[in-house]
Amino acid sequence: MHILNFIGGEWVSAAGGKTFQSFNPADTRQIVATVALSGTEDVDRATAAARKAFPAWRGMPAPRRGEILFRAGELLSREKGRLGELVTREMGKVSAEGLGDVQEAIDIAFYMAGEGRRLQGETVPSELPGKDCKSLRAPLGVVALITPWNFPIAIPAWKIFPALICGNTVILKPSSDTPACAAALVELLEKAGIPPGVVNLVHGSGEMAGEYLTTHPEVNAVSFTGSSIVGEKLEGMLGKIHRPMATEMGGKNAIIIMDDADLTLALEGVLWGGFGTTGQRCTAASRLVIHEKIYDRFVEMLAEAAARLRLGDGLEEDTDVGPIINERQQQKVLEYIRTGVSEGARLVTGGKPVTTGACAHGYFIEPTVFADVTPTMRIAREEIFGPVVSAIKCADLDEAISIVNDVGYGLSSAIYSRDVNKTARAEHDLETGIVYVNASTIGAEIQLPFGGWKHSGSGHPEAGGRGGAIDFYSRVKVVYRDFSGKLQRAQIDK
Ligand code: NAD
Repeated sequence: MHILNFIGGEWVSAAGGKTFQSFNPADTRQIVATVALSGTEDVDRATAAARKAFPAWRGMPAPRRGEILFRAGELLSREKGRLGELVTREMGKVSAEGLGDVQEAIDIAFYMAGEGRRLQGETVPSELPGKDCKSLRAPLGVVALITPWNFPIAIPAWKIFPALICGNTVILKPSSDTPACAAALVELLEKAGIPPGVVNLVHGSGEMAGEYLTTHPEVNAVSFTGSSIVGEKLEGMLGKIHRPMATEMGGKNAIIIMDDADLTLALEGVLWGGFGTTGQRCTAASRLVIHEKIYDRFVEMLAEAAARLRLGDGLEEDTDVGPIINERQQQKVLEYIRTGVSEGARLVTGGKPVTTGACAHGYFIEPTVFADVTPTMRIAREEIFGPVVSAIKCADLDEAISIVNDVGYGLSSAIYSRDVNKTARAEHDLETGIVYVNASTIGAEIQLPFGGWKHSGSGHPEAGGRGGAIDFYSRVKVVYRDFSGKLQRAQIDK
């Protein structure tokens, strides 16, 4: 498959003629795509195209923009099977999750299509007679979207659809590990009737195309999802030029399991949160904080169940856990496993790369569980982004909450308990943007905001609901209309 950039409504090679390749991480002998490798000239063209398209797109009534997004949602639904398979081939997650990735894009398309008929501002009474007070939403202009590889259709869609419904034009720079997925999404947007230049796609490296794009003078705002280290570097750079930026970054999410929990349910949640997507979710459950009364029993149940998970190609029906995205990430996860051992954590299952049978040609690591982890160990504090779960012991709920909160990240957390007072306390006191009760740390729905606290995000959540993406992709304009026909001085003449 040959993937080009999409600029001003046309599929074009990179100006320098260079390319790179994306591979199937379950079998790296399979090249998924040969892709345009963009440089500064390509980014210049894309920003110029987005700028040119902005006035007409902004001028189109929002309900009409919504109709185009609705068509995109319909096309995504129709193509769900094909796109889901592509997600599995290029990113590695198992088939059901590949389809789920596409479903998130469908959901956000329909949700944002509906927003075209809302996009509410406020109308409030004036303190003066013959005067109206209201606020309106206006687009930001040209928005650069930088996305990671772990949700290669969903995350670009979470950014593109709200940005478009608000009247912005966009340039997407997807992860260079999953360019074919991004291109497949943009192809459908083109088919849905998005006018030329409204959505542009440039492929290439983050350091080169990504950084040049985010700091480009024609760009008005940036939405970034990826690691905290890159996101915070960009925040520093863009803060200096006063450019609005939304960041969704890393996590070190935890599940609390109290002694009164339904342990079978909790185990299912831990397996899903810890090893789903091979632990490569920003919301992955990488820490367990377990009450001391059930600690040994639960760790044993978990180790047995984790050891039974089947690794392999996500397209095979009996695969539970797919590969790691690339060799660099595989090495990073293995390095964390070595760190855990050297810090004194007890490796109860897993810990090794798998290089035989169905896993012979990909980047696989056994589902790994560490016990006797203390909150100060690096494996309990840093994002690993792989199939590694660390079990920490606690004496009571107070201690559990303070362990969960005592890290630099604040994305997602969960509690399993049958005591409503305990779960209510956790809802109030856990310092994360998302809290789950008797459910795992993953499973957000698009009609509520999605975002992290602390080093996990800038506080401009994605997706829907009050405080969601619409608030980032639009800016507020306040209008005072005085029809009294005379000078009225606010605060003075009331
Ligand atoms: P990454 O930070 O390496 O890359 C993310 C994107 O940024 C890629 O498109 C990359 O090319 C680009 N990039 C890299 N350096 C850049 C630079 N200097 N300037 C501009 N762009 C640059 O992250 P990744 O490995 O692709 O994704 C994994 C990370 O993403 C994890 O930390 C995970 O927690 C995080 N993530 C967060 C969320 C969330 O919603 N909070 C969701 C998914 C993933």
